Amino acid sequence: MDTNKPCPPIVDFSRSPFLVLWELTRACALACQHCRAKAMRQRNPEELSEIECTKLLEDLKAFGRPLLVLTGGDPIQRPDAFNIIQEACHQGFTVAMTPSATPSVTRDVIAKLKDSGLTRLAISIDGPDAETHDAFRRVAGSFTWSKSILNWAREFGLPIQINTTMCRHNLECFASIAEFVEHEQAVLWSVFFLVTVGRARPELQITADQAEALLRRMAQLTVTAPFDVKSTAAPQFRRILIEQFTNIEESTNKLTAPCKSKCDSGSSVGQAVMSKLNPKLHLGSLRSYQSVNDGKGLLFISHTGDVQPSGFLPISAGNIREESVVSIYRDNVLFKSLRDPSLLKGKCGSCRYRVVCGGSRARAYGESGDYLNQDNLCSFQDLKSNPRR
Ligand code: SF4
Repeated sequence: MDTNKPCPPIVDFSRSPFLVLWELTRACALACQHCRAKAMRQRNPEELSEIECTKLLEDLKAFGRPLLVLTGGDPIQRPDAFNIIQEACHQGFTVAMTPSATPSVTRDVIAKLKDSGLTRLAISIDGPDAETHDAFRRVAGSFTWSKSILNWAREFGLPIQINTTMCRHNLECFASIAEFVEHEQAVLWSVFFLVTVGRARPELQITADQAEALLRRMAQLTVTAPFDVKSTAAPQFRRILIEQFTNIEESTNKLTAPCKSKCDSGSSVGQAVMSKLNPKLHLGSLRSYQSVNDGKGLLFISHTGDVQPSGFLPISAGNIREESVVSIYRDNVLFKSLRDPSLLKGKCGSCRYRVVCGGSRARAYGESGDYLNQDNLCSFQDLKSNPRR
């Protein structure tokens, strides 16, 4: 794998997201224990039409060309998913998809996805074996089907991403899942930290100390693994990386220096610190991320057109049927407040890492009802807290 890939260009997150997650449908044949979407069997008749999808792609171009991830439910449940991929690629977007591993995803479907222009296929693996994975997905045979999909993706040269939600049930499987990811020749392992929305129950959640230990193991993996490693809903991974792989004193000085401008949400500070990380670490584009977080470089569009800061933060800031997605992202008070680290509360508000991390806003909302509250899945307590910018 090329570890000297050029970093993605700097994006002004007050103007454009880096990543757009688009829930094409909520229909899905699975019934996973942690499903944020509470996916259902049937498609919602109120889903965006193909014409509305094409119009949305036109509107999204005003952001430049953010990375587009088609998700669900199971996005493949929409028969026009291939047309949407083709149109998005025609418009110049880079498109990834997260289908559910069901018999709907056949070898022919994978070939068609590749022909349509898809650049990456993300498959969820929540255990290293059928017993662990299928119990979580609540459908027997899901693991076997996932393996078939991964085989076909390799056959057709479609790069693979593996997504794993770490919960109590699979915490002990970290090393064996990492081996699985390597064996499947995935280019990226995205480790999801549970947010208790949708069907996800608090009993599944790990503790803050367990999360800390897990993030440290992930950081070590970025040194040794042949694939990139990223966290989802755990921006504190950046804190761990800075602590482990930079001159912590120099980084802290940068992080606590007075911010010259509030308009970039501290992006340049985060960029300066993250750029100190060794380019040989398998971080993918994470190194150059300007602290992507809910509503800050990240945008979610629901199957009915609601615009949210992320899939795990289910507050609608408006609907694309009534308002431009561009003005919602740039001007809505919800999005603007999520991009202002000076508004953070609790220990995140007084933490030196609030600009490069800021904690999961979705988890803060899920647990307290206040999206600006502290992220309780972080065990860090900044005892040398610094003046707010
Ligand atoms: S306290 Fe909040 S901002 Fe600081 S590292 Fe933890 S999650 Fe991030």
